[in-house]
Amino acid sequence: MTGECRKDGAPRIESALKHFLHGDECCFECRLLSSILGLIVKRGADAFGVKEEDIREQMHDQYWFRGLISVLRGIGFSVLTGHSYPEPPSRLYGTLQSAAT
Ligand SMILES: [Zn+2]
Repeated sequence: MTGECRKDGAPRIESALKHFLHGDECCFECRLLSSILGLIVKRGADAFGVKEEDIREQMHDQYWFRGLISVLRGIGFSVLTGHSYPEPPSRLYGTLQSAAT
C-alpha cells in the first residue's frame, strides 16, 4: 500500500486520492487503492453520520486533502484489515479537523 505510482512517480496515496476524486490517470495499484479509499469513505461517512457526498466534497479542499493523506499514512490502512483500528473515529475526525485549520 506504500510506494510510488508507476505512472508518474507520485506518492501512491496521492495518486489514488486524485483518481478517486477526479478520475486522474494512474496505474493499476493506484486504481485498486482508489477503490479501497472509496470503502474507507463509505465507512467513515457511516461512522461520522454524514453523507458520503459531503466527505467527497470536503476532500476537494486542499488542506483537508493533505490532512487526509497524513492520517491515512498514520493509520497505515490497518482499518482495511478489519482487525485493528488504532484511533476511534471521533479522534480521527478531530485529526482531520485540526489538519484542515
Ligand atoms: Zn499509480
